[in-house]
Amino acid sequence: MAKKPLLEFTDRGIYCAQGKFYIDPWKPVDDAVITHAHADHAYWGHKHYLAHHLSREVLLYRLGEINLQTVEYGETVLKNGVSISLYPAGHVIGSAQIRVEYKGEVWVVSGDYKVENDGISTPFEPVKCHHFISECTFGMPVYQWKPQVQTFSEINSWWRQNLDNGLATVLVGYSLGKAQRILQNLDLFNGKVYTHGVIENTNEALRRNGVLLNPTERITQESSKEEVRKGIIIAPPSSVGTTWMRKFQPYSFGYCSGWMAIRGAKRRRAADRGFVLSDHADWDGLISAIDATGCECVYLTHGYTATFSRYLSEIGFNAREVHTLYGGEEEDTSPQPSSEEREPETYDKSSSEVSPLGGDLEGVGGIS
Ligand SMILES: [Zn+2]
Ligand SMILES: [Zn+2]
Repeated sequence: MAKKPLLEFTDRGIYCAQGKFYIDPWKPVDDAVITHAHADHAYWGHKHYLAHHLSREVLLYRLGEINLQTVEYGETVLKNGVSISLYPAGHVIGSAQIRVEYKGEVWVVSGDYKVENDGISTPFEPVKCHHFISECTFGMPVYQWKPQVQTFSEINSWWRQNLDNGLATVLVGYSLGKAQRILQNLDLFNGKVYTHGVIENTNEALRRNGVLLNPTERITQESSKEEVRKGIIIAPPSSVGTTWMRKFQPYSFGYCSGWMAIRGAKRRRAADRGFVLSDHADWDGLISAIDATGCECVYLTHGYTATFSRYLSEIGFNAREVHTLYGGEEEDTSPQPSSEEREPETYDKSSSEVSPLGGDLEGVGGIS
C-alpha cells in the first residue's frame, strides 16, 4: 500500500492526518493552523487556532473571541509527533508559511506570499522542503512588478499634483496589508494621512499588537472636509462609488492592486489612476521562490494554476494543480462585485481559477 502523504487536500482544507490539524481550513475544524488573517485563509468557527503573534489582534478583531495560540517565526509546536513551525511569507504583517515535518519528510504551505521586502512585513524567507504548496495568484508572465520605490514615487507625485490642482486625494487598497504598506511609504511632507474606519480599525489592531505605524486620523462625522482635502485619504475597495467617497468631491481617486498591470483594470474600477502594487509574488518571484525550496513536488492552490503548473512542468518541475477556496483579497471587494470585476481583462475566464469565495471582508467591524 502506498504511504499516505503527510498533507492531503480535503473538502475542508489542507489536512495533516498524523497531526490531526488543518492549515487554513474553510469549514469549521477542531485544530486550525492559520497562515494569515485575510478572510480567505482565516475562517470563523474553529475550536483552536494557531497563528503568528503579529496576526493576533487582527484575528481577534475580525473573528471575535477565539481560542488562539500564537508563536514567533521559527518556534516549533508539536502535534502528535508532527512538528509545525512558521516562517515569514512577506505578504502582510504576521503572514507565515507553515512548515510541517514528520520523520524527516518536510512540507511547506506558502499561504499568500511576496518576495519583495515591503519594509513593513517580515521579509519572505525560502524554506527547504520536499513538497511545496504554493499560491500563484499572479502566475502569468505579464505580471512583473517594478520595485515598490518606483510605485511610491509615482503615488507621492500624484498626491502633490492633486494638491496643486485643488483636488482631494483618495487612495484605495485593501485594509490589511496594502493600507499599511501605503501608509508607511507616503511622503508625509505632503500632508496628513486620513483613514476610512475599516482601515483605521485594522491599524488600531496592529498598533495594539505593538506594530509602529505612521500617524493617521480616522475620518468621522466631525472631520473637517477642508482639512481632509489637504491630506490623503486611504480607503478600502468597499468604499468605491459610495456616498462616503463622494463627500470629498472634487477628488482624484487612485487604486493600488497587482491587477493594475493589465490594460483595462483601471477603467473597470473607474479609477483616475491605477498603481501596480501587489502583496503577492509576480511571475519571476513565484518561480524563484519555488526554485529556492528545492522541492520535489509543487502543488498550486490558487491563481492561474493551470497556466502556471503547465509552465513549471515544461521547465522540469513536478507541478500539480489542487482545488482550494483561497484567493480573493486582491480582488475588488466592492459591495456588489460583479463576476466581471473579479477578472482582469485580456485573459479568458477558463485560464483563471479565481474562487467564488474569498475577499478581504472589507466592511467587517463597522464603518464610520
Ligand atoms: Zn492574503
Ligand atoms: Zn489569499
